[in-house]
Amino acid sequence: MFIFNGLTVILSNDSTLQTYIATFVLVGSLLFTFICNRLLSLILEYFVVLQKKYNIMSSKQCPECGEKIVGRTDKKFCSDGCRNTYNNRMNKDQKNLMRNINNRLRKNWRILEQLNPDQKTKKSKAQLIALGFDFNYFTSIYKTKAGATYYFVYDQGYLSLENDFFALVKRD
Ligand SMILES: [Zn+2]
Repeated sequence: MFIFNGLTVILSNDSTLQTYIATFVLVGSLLFTFICNRLLSLILEYFVVLQKKYNIMSSKQCPECGEKIVGRTDKKFCSDGCRNTYNNRMNKDQKNLMRNINNRLRKNWRILEQLNPDQKTKKSKAQLIALGFDFNYFTSIYKTKAGATYYFVYDQGYLSLENDFFALVKRD
């Protein structure tokens, strides 16, 4: 604008040239501003891309084979094959876990049913253990108002009594 003002003084008699210069300076400064903005946003974009790339390279690993994962940041596995293998193994482990617990519960239930063919009886802890009873596995707990705690394996329950004895009960 300083140059423009200077030229205005010098060329004050020629109004046509004055208009040309004014237009030239205006368009020039607009173009300059546009180019500067565009350059700045390009530089910023470049840094964002660089940061994303760095994150992928440094931290992401395939949980199945340990290979570095290249590509989208939301990618969890290196390939479809690794994803399938991983998920299949997880499902198998979970199925095995549940099968083992179900087997333990079934065994406990059979022991209680065997020792308590009627609705109610009293058995020693040694008798339960001798048959392979596992006190860690039960399906529910029932607390009476008096403060007694019954452990149930489905409909078969037991209550700890004095001197390592148990009351066995069957729920209707
Ligand atoms: Zn992999």
